[in-house]
Amino acid sequence: MEKKQEKKRIVLVPVPAQGHVTPFMQLGKALSLKGFLITVAQGQFNRISPSPDFPGFQFVTIPESLPESELKRLGPIEFALKHNKTNEASFKDCIAQLLLQQGNDIACIIYDESMYSCEAAAREFKIPCVIFTTTSATNHASRCVLSKLNAERFFSDIEDPEVQDKVVENLYPLRYKHLRPSGLGPLEPHLEMRREIVNKRTASAFIINTSNCLESLSLSWLQQELKIPVYPLGPLHITASAPSSLLKQDRSCIEWLNKQKPRSVIYISMGSMAHMETKEVVETAWGLSDSNQPFLWVTGSGSITCPDWIETFPEELRKTVSERGYIVKWAPQIEVLAHPAVGGFWSHCGWNSTLESIAEGVPMICRPFHGEQLLNAMYIESVWSVGIQLEGEVERVTVERAVKRLIVDEEGACMRDRARLLKDKVKASVRNGGSSYNALDELVKYLETD
Ligand code: UDP
Repeated sequence: MEKKQEKKRIVLVPVPAQGHVTPFMQLGKALSLKGFLITVAQGQFNRISPSPDFPGFQFVTIPESLPESELKRLGPIEFALKHNKTNEASFKDCIAQLLLQQGNDIACIIYDESMYSCEAAAREFKIPCVIFTTTSATNHASRCVLSKLNAERFFSDIEDPEVQDKVVENLYPLRYKHLRPSGLGPLEPHLEMRREIVNKRTASAFIINTSNCLESLSLSWLQQELKIPVYPLGPLHITASAPSSLLKQDRSCIEWLNKQKPRSVIYISMGSMAHMETKEVVETAWGLSDSNQPFLWVTGSGSITCPDWIETFPEELRKTVSERGYIVKWAPQIEVLAHPAVGGFWSHCGWNSTLESIAEGVPMICRPFHGEQLLNAMYIESVWSVGIQLEGEVERVTVERAVKRLIVDEEGACMRDRARLLKDKVKASVRNGGSSYNALDELVKYLETD
């Protein structure tokens, strides 16, 4: 009789933030559907709890991980540096415990690139490890270029407009000015993190939540540059639904959307980290009201700096906001974007939001805040031509104009047509025989090989 093959276990190590946890859980779900056992190793906050959505998943805690107050105190980059130092020994203990408990070995540790301290445990216990990049391939390529440059010298030279505007070789339309990690504090911690990531790296493959039809040039560049297999298997939210919202989603907005005309609503969300200043909120509210379009606005876990923002509006504005708008703390975003009433998405251009909007063929108003969001916005506007950027200071007239361009004007209709075509390509890539579908199959073969 043929011996039943033992299932292999994969340990997933996400960064504790919504935009990272979600794609990790989707990857876990996709791999579990392919027959792997999944363990999710998490810190003390932004944790996913066991639920029927994740049958058979094991959740373990890395005991000495940093608390959330440290993230608030240090900001994301300094936090990541400190988190990795604190985590290293604790993660090793965690893996040692797992190896003792499990009847089966750990086939692979898949970790977020910013959780590079995982490599120490992988090395010690001789477990293969793979990096999962939850951002775009282009962003990953730009980080690689940054690591290769003598970055400190480069950044003192970059004030020269000729250098700034030079295209990075083989990565058009990426220019040198795009490599600067803007809006996320001083440069040195970024460079220190890049050094740590690159010097410690032993990972034998990369997984990227993107599709070949979106970023073929950056993917070819990465394949050549990294010299290890790269698996572009996204958008994962289409392949494997994995409800992993860290905040409760307010579904009442779906009932409100049901009452709106097709493609009339502008949906506004800045994701889980970006913050809008009070002045920007007020100008946005005026602009939305003046546009005469209905709007659904997510105020987020802290995306608006003033918590009682609506109370601060003048009486007239409060009235139009409540007549035309619907406001929630957190929405079921994928469902909202799929709703026929939604005509446009005003977004901070986080990578997950970008993929979710593309997958529903919804054109975008881009208002990036920092880091990779700026690259995503550039791609949305200039490469895929499915959105417009709102640059400079936000004023009510520019908001009104942008909403009308997207929802009412012919220009918006053309963008919507292109967005639909892009949606079709992206969906085809995850279907049987498509590039992302094949990449997932190849990854599975790779993980199954001893
Ligand atoms: N999201 C959500 N409800 C909201 C706003 C956002 O469920 O009201 C989800 C969204 O679907 C996406 C994630 O939060 O999967 C945000 O990730 P993204 O990479 O876009 O931005 P980040 O929060 O990392 O800046």
